[in-house]
Amino acid sequence: MSELQRFSMSIDGGSVGSEYFSVINPATEKPFAEAPSATKDEIDAAFAAADKAFVDWSVDDEARQIAMRKAAEVVTAHVDELAALLVSEQGKPLADAIGEVHGTAAWISYFADVEIADKEYITPGEVAQVRLPLGVVAAITPWNYPVIQAAWKFAPALRAGNTVVLKPSPYTPIATLRLGELLQDAFPAGVLNIVSGGDEVGVALTKHPTTAMVSFTGSTSAGKSVAKAVADDLKRVTLELGGNDPAIVLDDIDIAKAAEDLFWGAFVNNGQVCGAAKRVYVPESIYGAVADALADVAAGVKVGAGDAADVRLGPINNRAQYDRVNGLLESAVAGGATVRAGGNRVGEDGYFLEPTILTDVPAGSAIIDEEQFGPVVPLVSYTDLDAVIAEVNNSKYGLGGSVWSADANRALAVGRRLRVGTVYINGHAINHGPHVPFGGARWSGIGVENGLAGLEEYTQRQIIYGNGADL
Ligand code: NAD
Repeated sequence: MSELQRFSMSIDGGSVGSEYFSVINPATEKPFAEAPSATKDEIDAAFAAADKAFVDWSVDDEARQIAMRKAAEVVTAHVDELAALLVSEQGKPLADAIGEVHGTAAWISYFADVEIADKEYITPGEVAQVRLPLGVVAAITPWNYPVIQAAWKFAPALRAGNTVVLKPSPYTPIATLRLGELLQDAFPAGVLNIVSGGDEVGVALTKHPTTAMVSFTGSTSAGKSVAKAVADDLKRVTLELGGNDPAIVLDDIDIAKAAEDLFWGAFVNNGQVCGAAKRVYVPESIYGAVADALADVAAGVKVGAGDAADVRLGPINNRAQYDRVNGLLESAVAGGATVRAGGNRVGEDGYFLEPTILTDVPAGSAIIDEEQFGPVVPLVSYTDLDAVIAEVNNSKYGLGGSVWSADANRALAVGRRLRVGTVYINGHAINHGPHVPFGGARWSGIGVENGLAGLEEYTQRQIIYGNGADL
């Protein structure tokens, strides 16, 4: 009998689990809890419950608002418990985990209270449009921000009148499972079902005959598999996928003033953010000065277990990702790159790597062209700004991009030329909250999350010709 604490799935308002797998704490490399591996019968039960719950849930917007307000209160009342679980499974510093759980409550509150027009006239009195919920939404989340990513999906999906079957990453299922159990009292049975397991459980969700829509956040390669899986049945889909965001520094930048923000735009959450800056383009004339300033910031950052004092960066989340990031680092160095800051493992246990800044990285290196999703960032020297913009726009990734200058309008003129989903001026990976849509171009995704535009992804637009009826 295992001594690890077991967590349960939430299916049809009850706690469920039959087979289990262990979840590793990335700061210790040791298992700390167990999560269920959903069986086919359990997955079917979740969809049957969601399908049944849809009947009442989809037609009572007031009940939805009341339930969601209660859900936000429940999350707020359990911030400490959820944040501690998040630190254990994800690795992030406690303060960041607390911020993530507060953000989760804020997202649920926003979608509970956001005003949704009952109908909109296209031709006053004659033609109107309304928004119908789709049915059961399969929501699949990654391991970098597991709890808030869940809310990014279930909050708008539920408010729009859908019911949900949600699956967290097998690396970080625990806080989401606990969240599901806590919310059993807030929502009617079957409205929000949380199932856990490996990638194959995600595949089963995307192919389930009851699934009306898949809302997926994860890697570009898995996103392509999801797109193929939903094609046969033409299920609706949103894909929030990988990024390789550029930060483009212009030659008039105030380096001392910008260095901290530029550093954290790249190293936020240890670089494990879809929309973090993943390559920094710097004019040749100030290349050395920018590298020195960023290296200074890196040297002052404390790396360690998320529950230790003063830690700003925790471990990389899992062994596979740790190996991938180190592999990209080693191959860049083998190709001639210089380690300007960091580059070393921290301690003997845990997937810790110092925040690492690379200079003189040869063009064509994987660390520039691919998504590293970890604490190693290349600085790329340039002399031709148009060539940089062309390189960014020719990249398969198109999540976001930032431009940095002492003259914000000069930066904006460059930013407006980037064909990406989000442009930031003198900042990166900024998030002003649940009302701001977020999404990517090309391989970075299809559709948006957040804001009313994000909520509308979970609806079918219906046009009504009244022909004399009181529209
Ligand atoms: P991943 O694609 O390996 O896994 C994401 C989720 O999908 C997990 O729950 C996994 O079990 C499931 N899954 C994997 N293969 C599947 C398949 N074929 N069908 C259905 N489900 C499947 O991604 P990850 O490693 O957990 O997360 C990191 C990636 O996510 C990075 O590329 C990052 O950029 C991206 N991401 C994007 C956004 C965004 O909003 N654009 C946000 C966060 C993370």
